[in-house]
Amino acid sequence: MSSKNAFDIVVLPGDGIGIEVTDACLELLAAVQRRIGGFSLAYDRRPGGAGCYQQTGDAFPAASMSACERADAILFGAMGLPHIRYPDGREIAPQIDLRVRLDLYAGVRPIRAIPGVPLPLVDPRAREIDLVIVRESTEGWFYYFGKGEVRDDEEAFDKCRISRKGSERVFDFSFRLAERRRARNPKKGRVTCVDKANVFVSMAFSNKIFWERAKLFPGIAADHCYIDAMALNLVRKPWEYDVMPTENQFGDIISDLGAGLIGGMGMAPSGDIGDKHAVFQPSHGSAPDIAGQGKANPIAMFLSAAMMLDWLGDRHGVAACADASALIEGAVDRVFADKRVLPNEFGGRDGTAAITRAVVDAISEKAVA
Ligand code: ATP
Repeated sequence: MSSKNAFDIVVLPGDGIGIEVTDACLELLAAVQRRIGGFSLAYDRRPGGAGCYQQTGDAFPAASMSACERADAILFGAMGLPHIRYPDGREIAPQIDLRVRLDLYAGVRPIRAIPGVPLPLVDPRAREIDLVIVRESTEGWFYYFGKGEVRDDEEAFDKCRISRKGSERVFDFSFRLAERRRARNPKKGRVTCVDKANVFVSMAFSNKIFWERAKLFPGIAADHCYIDAMALNLVRKPWEYDVMPTENQFGDIISDLGAGLIGGMGMAPSGDIGDKHAVFQPSHGSAPDIAGQGKANPIAMFLSAAMMLDWLGDRHGVAACADASALIEGAVDRVFADKRVLPNEFGGRDGTAAITRAVVDAISEKAVA
């Protein structure tokens, strides 16, 4: 563990509302820095995404990639726009290249019900939803991304790859995360492997590896659920779950389901984490339907920045970073618990500027620790 406390952050605003929520987030982080010393963040803003491709012919310049490789962490808005595509019709998604290049194997998607946020489930236990989806992000059904094959316009093939190394590291990450969560909340500390091991050879293989790794973490409860049953359970009793590692595509799908459970895409943060690098970004995309209108909910981006600070603090042993992370989460919770804002996303009147102002004000309040 290094003892450094000055961090270089590459900022990739990207496209659409990615730019709007990134600017809001930098305003928030400036307020956090005014409240908490003991660490510093220096920002290096870099181009990338569909707009960059349209202007330069390059979706992700080599200089942006090498800045990411040197950075302590990466803060990412959203990239891609449906009307700007490569000549073969594919959407522009440099975030997938980043995951591969930086070996960001754990897609961490916390799904936590924030007090006061309107939820779609009427059961009062929905207020207790607090789980984390860990999406394996380097293989599975995305391994052949861009390499699928169509034969004679009659049949098409994609392939799923699951490796021992890929499985072991994502399961170990999940068990360690469950240990950390249990240290903060004794009710937590359970890992549920989500797959389709009854149908796919690749998933029967990863399921076997899950149980091998579970034995190395005897203090953490381990269980299993098929993805189809989990789709049902996430609607019927999501409050029962804690950490849920799953295959890449399954994780992609249930992450959006999870975001829906806690109010919408604007509430769902994420971190793509590897052994050396990490990218933090809201789970949502560039949302061209609302871009440029000031309607984007920046909370997912704020909570992603909180995850970044927590990760930096843990990695470098800087307690002030963990405090800053808790400061952001506490401020967001207070804003909603006190009903200070109702985002456009929930049918309310508040857009990016009003929500940012409310959270920045809450950060600055003495009562928030
Ligand atoms: P991608 O494929 O890149 O994930 P997408 O087009 O599938 O993107 P999003 O861009 O995440 O999906 O948008 C899905 C819906 O959620 C859209 O209607 C969008 O307006 C809404 N949405 C997404 N993010 C936010 C946000 N931060 N605030 C308000 N609404 C949002």
